[in-house]
Amino acid sequence: MSGLHGGESHFITPEMAKEQGLNSPKSEGTDCPFCGRILEPRGVMLNGRVAWVAFEPCGCEGEANAVKEAEAYELKMRERERKVKLIRSGVKKRYLEATVDEVKAQQYMERFGSDDGRGLYIHGSVGTGKTYLASALACTFIDAGYSVVLTTTLAMLEDIQDTYGKEASSLDAVLRFASSDVLILDDLGKESASAWSASMIFQIVNYRYEAMRPLIVTSQYDLAGLEKRIARQGERESACAIVSRLRQMCHEIKLSGNDRRRG
Ligand SMILES: [Zn+2]
Repeated sequence: MSGLHGGESHFITPEMAKEQGLNSPKSEGTDCPFCGRILEPRGVMLNGRVAWVAFEPCGCEGEANAVKEAEAYELKMRERERKVKLIRSGVKKRYLEATVDEVKAQQYMERFGSDDGRGLYIHGSVGTGKTYLASALACTFIDAGYSVVLTTTLAMLEDIQDTYGKEASSLDAVLRFASSDVLILDDLGKESASAWSASMIFQIVNYRYEAMRPLIVTSQYDLAGLEKRIARQGERESACAIVSRLRQMCHEIKLSGNDRRRG
């Protein structure tokens, strides 16, 4: 057992120090804080002499309970840290425990990294679980160590717009979306149509396309529908350019209505 003090076998015991004639200062034991037994010191070699840095584990019940408590605490802290990371990446509280339960998306995750930075275009009508799936993908990527930005397209555009006239330039905001390992744009097509928003979306999509960084999009429109939607105020060229990039860089997943239990 490793006890509170890590791998016991790496340490020098007082007997070893004596037997091997190591240069060591006088060693003193200490009382086990749980049962009072005297514990031997444990040392490591430091600058040619033994430094007594720890004590043997006791092995008593009180110590075992303390170890268990410390482990539970650490687990709780790790869980908390994970939550903070997920929320900072844009995952909503409701979806922190979301899991990828759609077969094509599972296959995509299994292949991830081996297909030139391809992403996903997930479409389906309202209530088919697009945000749930987008969040589940975000959680999986974050747990695997990738940097992720999950945002609605609307919020992304607002974030960029907010930076105008402020010290942080809008370029910084654009780069944040353009350069994360994975960008997940929820609800593309819901933003209001304008030359500015179409051009902003194109810039970000195109940057990711050229950098071969995956983009995951959800939309209530299929790709043809999205093109019409973005072009509804006359931005035909941008709409066509965005959708043609998405066709090249994303696998399509259509969600149908019979999905259950999702929020
Ligand atoms: Zn003890």
